[in-house]
Amino acid sequence: MKRNLLRACVFLTMLLASSNAFVVVGQQGMAQNPADLTRVGDKVIKVNEAINLVQGFGNTFLITTSEGNVVIDTSVAAHAQKHKQLLSAVTAGPIRYIILTHGHGDHTGGVPLWKEPGTQIIAQKNHVEFLHYQTRLGGFYAKRNAAQFGGNLGARAGGWAGNYGAKIEPTILFDDKYEFTLGGVKFETYRAPSETYDHLMVWVPKYKAVFSGDVFYESFPNIYTLRGTEPRWALDYINSLNAILALKPEVVLPSHGLPIRGNEEITRRLTRYRDAIQYVHDEVVKGMNAGKDVYTLMQQIKLPAALDIGESYGKLTWSIRGIYEGYVGWFDLNPVTMYETPVSSVYPDVVKLAGGPEAVAKLAIGRAEAGDAIAALHLTDIALRADPNHRMALEARLKALEILRSRCKNTNERGWLDYSIREAKGKLGEK
Ligand SMILES: [Zn+2]
Repeated sequence: MKRNLLRACVFLTMLLASSNAFVVVGQQGMAQNPADLTRVGDKVIKVNEAINLVQGFGNTFLITTSEGNVVIDTSVAAHAQKHKQLLSAVTAGPIRYIILTHGHGDHTGGVPLWKEPGTQIIAQKNHVEFLHYQTRLGGFYAKRNAAQFGGNLGARAGGWAGNYGAKIEPTILFDDKYEFTLGGVKFETYRAPSETYDHLMVWVPKYKAVFSGDVFYESFPNIYTLRGTEPRWALDYINSLNAILALKPEVVLPSHGLPIRGNEEITRRLTRYRDAIQYVHDEVVKGMNAGKDVYTLMQQIKLPAALDIGESYGKLTWSIRGIYEGYVGWFDLNPVTMYETPVSSVYPDVVKLAGGPEAVAKLAIGRAEAGDAIAALHLTDIALRADPNHRMALEARLKALEILRSRCKNTNERGWLDYSIREAKGKLGEK
C-alpha cells in the first residue's frame, strides 16, 4: 500500500506534536479525546482475556485463541513494526487470519509484516476494485500528498500502473457475510459500507465485541475528504451503524481511538453519531428538493446542539457538499458551467477594469483586516490570475490564509491551509 496516505499523514503530522501520555482503556463511559486517535501506543491494551490492541494510526488488534491468532487491521506501515513487536509478546501462536476492515493504507500497511505461510487474509470483495482504484489514481494522490506535506510522501515510483495494477493480498473475499471458527471462537464478518464501499465489521459473539473499523470515530465523519474520494454515502454509514447497534455489543473497538465499553454507552454514542449523519443527510435532501443550491445548504445546515459531535476530523460543510454532489454531480443550472471555460478566464478583464492587480490586492487586504478572510482569498485569486507574481496580492493572500489558519480547528483543513501558506511564502521568497 503506497497510496491514500494523506489521511495517515495528517495524523502522522499530528503525532509529532502529540504527547507521550497514554490512556489505558477500561472505564465504562470514559470520554474520548480526539487526540487519542493520533497516539502511537507504547503498550498493549488488554481489553479482555483474548482481545489485545495497540493504538496508532490506526489500531492493530490481536485476538488469541487456543488454535492461533486473528489480527484485525494492521495500521499504517510506519507504525506496524512497533505494533507487531508489542503484540507478538502476548503470544507466540501463529497468525491464522488477518481481517482487513477496508483498503485504506492505515489499515493495510502492516500486512506484509504479519502474514505467515498459511495465513488467510479476509476482506470484503469490493476490496479488489477499491485497491485498483487507489492504484489507478496513484499519480493524482501522490501529487495531493506532496502538496499537503511539501514532499514526496506516498508518491508512486514510475508511471501509471494501469487500471488493474494493484497487488491483491486477501485470500478470502466475501459478499455480505463470512464466518469461521478458530479455537472454539466464532468470528463473523459483515459488509459494512461507510467510509469505503469495501468496508466490513467483525462480530465476535463470545465476547460481544464489534470491531467497527472506520464506521465510527470521534468527530463528524469525513463524508467528503479533501484529498479526493469516491462518494461516501451517508445512508451507508447509517445502515452500518444500525447493524452494529442491532448486535447489542458490550464492547465496540474502532480502528481509531479507544474501545467503548458497555451497551448503554455504546448505544448512546453510536446513536448520536448516527442521528447527526441522518440529520445532515436529510437536510441536504430536503434542500435539494426545495431547489436550494449547494452553497446555500453549506451555509444554512448546522447540527442541533444535541447532535453536535464535533468537527475535528470531518467537516459539516464538506460533507454537505459531498452528499449533494455525490447524488447529482457538479452542474449547477448556470449555463456557463456547461462549457470548458472557467470564470477565472475573465478575471484579467475585471482586474483591468478595477485599475490593475494593486487595486484588487488593496481591496483584499481591507477585507482581510475586516475579518473576512474568505472574501480576501477570492479577491487574491482574481488579482493573481492577472499577475501570478504580484507581490501585494501574494501578501494579501498570505494574510488571509494566516487568519484562516489561526481560526482553524479541523485537522484536514489545517493541512491544506499550511500547504497554501507554504506556496504563497515560496512565491514571496520567504521560508
Ligand atoms: Zn482509517
